[in-house]
Amino acid sequence: MNDVAPSSRPPVLELAHVSAAYGPFRALFDVDLVVADGEAVALLGANGAGKTTVARVASGLLAPGSGTVRVGGQDVTGALPHRFVRAGVAHAPEGRSVFATLTTEENLTLSFRRSQGRAGVRDALDRAYELFPVLGERRRQLAGTLSGGQQRMLSMARVLVESPSLLVADELSLGLAPKVVDEVYAGLTRLREHGTSLLIVEQQVRHALDLCDRAVVLHHGAVAWSGSAAEAAERAASDIFDQAAPVAQDEGVVGQISRRT
Ligand code: ATP
Repeated sequence: MNDVAPSSRPPVLELAHVSAAYGPFRALFDVDLVVADGEAVALLGANGAGKTTVARVASGLLAPGSGTVRVGGQDVTGALPHRFVRAGVAHAPEGRSVFATLTTEENLTLSFRRSQGRAGVRDALDRAYELFPVLGERRRQLAGTLSGGQQRMLSMARVLVESPSLLVADELSLGLAPKVVDEVYAGLTRLREHGTSLLIVEQQVRHALDLCDRAVVLHHGAVAWSGSAAEAAERAASDIFDQAAPVAQDEGVVGQISRRT
């Protein structure tokens, strides 16, 4: 776990009394959520609890029906996603948007030229390889021949090099081999060390709790529990002994955390 130095800056993200809906279906009810400057928060909950919906609201992809969204103290409620990007919010891409017939380095160079200008490419490449060393090792390999996890890292590196003030990461580890998940999390840890705050939506509860300071558990679209990641991990650990089916551990643990409060 990381200690976060107290900051006098406004929270990087603040949702106050946020409700959101998809047409007639209400997905979020009066959600309050704060990510302080430098903090990492894990957003947990069973399938359909509303985690992705919170992530979408936090990055401007879905406007709340009511409530307020602030980024770095600025009210951005209802603003378009590019305004969130300008305010420093990055949404980690779920897919692997890479050019298969270009090498790793060519992919990175293309996107850094656009975002940093020609003069900034070298520094951005160094930073990408520092965040994800495997990309440096594979710099000359065609992106289409990288593993799924490496492609995921490549598409993340293109966003993360811009040092967002907040990264909203939705299920980054989904479908990745355990070793690759470790590498992705090592990248997130380095990103944190460089000052980016994190809002992590994750099925792999243990990984998320190791990285984060606090956890917020959603249940049926509302905040059911929030507390330190250490406390969440403690509850999760004791609950594991109650689990009959280890396969469902992570989901079960989250359910147990929220039901016990
Ligand atoms: P999971 O862990 O399964 O991804 P989640 O906690 O991220 O779940 P959300 O994806 O936020 O949950 O979904 C919350 C609720 O909103 C669910 O009942 C879901 O069916 C519904 N929902 C999500 N996206 C849409 C959509 N585009 N249109 C209609 N309903 C939606």
